[in-house]
Amino acid sequence: MSLIAAYIALGCAATVLPVLVSVYVANEHVARREQADLRAYAAKAVIRTDLVTYQARAAIAELRAEHAEPCSPEYLQRAARVIFNHLYVRDAGAIGDGRYLCSPLFGDVRTQDVVLPPPRWRSSDGYQVWFKQKNPLSDVREDIQVARDGEYVSIDPQSFVDIIDPAGRPIATINTDLNLIIALSAGADAEDMLNAWKRAGRIDSSEWNYAVAHSSTRSLGVVVKGRRTSLLRDWPGLLTMWLSMGVALGAALGWLAFKLISRQVSFQASLEWAISRKAIDVVYQPIVSLATNECVGVEALARWTLNGREISPDIFVALAEQHGLIQSLTDLVLDKALDDLTELLRSQPSFYVSVNVSGDDLCTPRFLNLVTAKLAGIGIRAAQIRIEATERSFLNADVTRQTIAAFRSAGHPIYIDDFGTGYSSLAYLHTFMIDVLKIDKSFVDTIGQDAASSIVAPHIIDMAHELGVEIVAEGIERTEQVEYLVGRGVQYGQGWLFAKPMRREELVAWLEARRASHAPAQPAIQ
Ligand code: C2E
Ligand code: MG
Ligand code: MG
Repeated sequence: MSLIAAYIALGCAATVLPVLVSVYVANEHVARREQADLRAYAAKAVIRTDLVTYQARAAIAELRAEHAEPCSPEYLQRAARVIFNHLYVRDAGAIGDGRYLCSPLFGDVRTQDVVLPPPRWRSSDGYQVWFKQKNPLSDVREDIQVARDGEYVSIDPQSFVDIIDPAGRPIATINTDLNLIIALSAGADAEDMLNAWKRAGRIDSSEWNYAVAHSSTRSLGVVVKGRRTSLLRDWPGLLTMWLSMGVALGAALGWLAFKLISRQVSFQASLEWAISRKAIDVVYQPIVSLATNECVGVEALARWTLNGREISPDIFVALAEQHGLIQSLTDLVLDKALDDLTELLRSQPSFYVSVNVSGDDLCTPRFLNLVTAKLAGIGIRAAQIRIEATERSFLNADVTRQTIAAFRSAGHPIYIDDFGTGYSSLAYLHTFMIDVLKIDKSFVDTIGQDAASSIVAPHIIDMAHELGVEIVAEGIERTEQVEYLVGRGVQYGQGWLFAKPMRREELVAWLEARRASHAPAQPAIQ
């Protein structure tokens, strides 16, 4: 359960962490890009501010350059042209003594006493400026008025802020000497913008970014603001969504782990159960004298069927060895072999059964004692029960040597199985005093082929002869293999050419058929 919980936690972490990290990184990236965008927007707004101011000054200069008598018909005509030529200029004319004198818009008002209040600000180079100057013709309109030496122009404050922006980001234009807003775009809050200006745009807000820019030539600045698109604004929602996905993924992983473990556990438990219930079958494969074709004995081989599937002995024998079940398995195979074959062995004293054992069976005299006890008084000779051990089971040399010697002195011949697949040399193995050597199928397969490994088989055979041990060739499937092996003096063979492993009844019938026909063993396959 703790493993499953760990998998769930791992699933959550594996899902949520990368998501949160990438959302955070994306968020940072977006924030940086938005700030840069906003700064570029502020720079654009300041360029507009400069442009409008420049136009106002240029218009005044143009009006003065005409040298026409102020308020003369030529003067008013000139003024009309100036208004027309300067996009941001709405009115231009003459002022004097705190009064409007004339403009194309008002006409000549010298006699009407239209009062102009003192200017709100003066620039260092002599311009007077009125912010929010009520136009004498309107109660609503408030213009910015700029004057110098008796000439004035009127500018709509919106000229400073009517920049086309699809996002409609608010702008405010500021007189930097007075810290006064002189133009404000629609939807902008004066107090908010002024506050942002005073703090140079450093406002702590989760909703808005601010940026300011200064004109390099005039006492003007702008402040702009843009909405933040925070990916993390809905982080509780995001977290809930991804966390639930993490839990689901974790649960799936946990379930998978549980399945895997329980399968592993149940596989081992099933084998243990099968052995304890004696639910392992034993089949017998004939061993034949190659010279006479006579069946001299059989090898007992274990079979296990789990849920209708036959499990390979290579798998379940290894599993039994890993989990300390191998001795019970060997005992079971011996028991079943004796149950199946006692009658046959008794009636044919030269017939034998060989039983496969593992390293654990050779570490102590336990299995030998068991065999001895089982054979006591049942009329079977010790030589009829033979022991097959692979090279691997000889690894624990000192202990094994004693047990093998004890088996031999009790009369049980020792076979070395799968010879050639391990690391031992034949000479080394001979120090164990073995009786028979089984050449592994992989070498027998190469007989008659040009493969480089085909030189190994004759080598093994020659050495075995020199050391005086008998040979059984495993896995014979073709008649030319028999011919070759007979030619080399190999005494015995085992393989599908003669017979596949069989159940007791099949074996008895097979032996009976051969005896009846007095014929040599018939190949099982061609
Ligand atoms: P092994 O002792 O070398 O047994 C011979 C294997 O070769 C058997 O495989 C047999 O079915 C197969 N065989 C025999 N003739 C031919 C042939 O002509 N062609 C082919 N293709 N195969 C052939 P099996 O029964 O699958 O057993 C595999 C191994 O499992 C055995 O190799 C043995 O090492 C082990 N084993 C089987 N039963 C037991 C057992 O009761 N105890 C122990 N410790 N090991 C066992
Ligand atoms: Mg064997
Ligand atoms: Mg073998």
